[in-house]
Amino acid sequence: MKLNRQIALVTGGSRGIGRATALAFAAEGADIAFCHLHDDAKANDTAAEIEALGRRAMHRSVDVSDIAAGRAFAATVEATFGPVDILFNNAGMNIRKPFEAYTEQEFDSILDVHVKGMFFMAQALYPAMVARGRGCIINVASQRALKGAVNASVYSAAKAAIIGFTRSLAWEAAPKGIRVNAIAPGPIVTDLTATMTEADRQAFINALPLGRFGRPEEIAATALLLAGPDGGFYVGATLSPNGGDVMY
Ligand code: NAD
Repeated sequence: MKLNRQIALVTGGSRGIGRATALAFAAEGADIAFCHLHDDAKANDTAAEIEALGRRAMHRSVDVSDIAAGRAFAATVEATFGPVDILFNNAGMNIRKPFEAYTEQEFDSILDVHVKGMFFMAQALYPAMVARGRGCIINVASQRALKGAVNASVYSAAKAAIIGFTRSLAWEAAPKGIRVNAIAPGPIVTDLTATMTEADRQAFINALPLGRFGRPEEIAATALLLAGPDGGFYVGATLSPNGGDVMY
């Protein structure tokens, strides 16, 4: 077991990439706490699957852009399960539209979830990681931070901010025994991409060397690499499983 008896907190764990990662971590021996936004039926299913793997699961509907609520959730997890070993900072959403059409409220809502929520969830768990001299933080960015895309100016800006944040925190945290890295997935079949138009999806697939979207489990495998003993030398890295969409 690569994560035997570790505690992982997954944001956005009810479905998609977060769910697949929660299950991959649980299968390797971790207990899982996760939050999600509403989506209670899928969250209950995910929790049941974690428990079926013989691990503890707890979950709450918590909006990570509400900093006080995120901190309260982190405190509840630490009080219930103990100190968190792995933070998978994954909760996210998107609003697709042309640059000139975004409102200030839309801009703020995207930045608040991806950047502010991610930053302060890490800050909430960081002191206990520092006290124990170990921890692992994985932030989910996107290949759009590396390549950009039409109708994704705010999302791409948020995801690029995540990569900058990851690198800076990695510098501060590594001497304290905490590894911080990012994953920048290519297009993955989830509820998030289900809202794309069929024309957009086909154009995306045509531009991918691999000719298909990825599966959430293919991102979970990268998360497991970064969280587990095989990832011990990754610090401040951005790994991008993306089907060849961005090659670097
Ligand atoms: P999804 O829509 O399937 O799942 C999103 C999860 O985040 C859900 O559990 C949802 O409840 C939760 N969530 C959304 N807003 C939240 C909030 N304010 N507070 C707490 N939880 C919230 O999406 P997904 O495709 O699995 O995306 C997961 C992450 O991966 C996101 O950060 C997304 O930007 C990123 N990503 C996805 C793709 C893709 O193609 N699917 C590609 C690159 C990056």
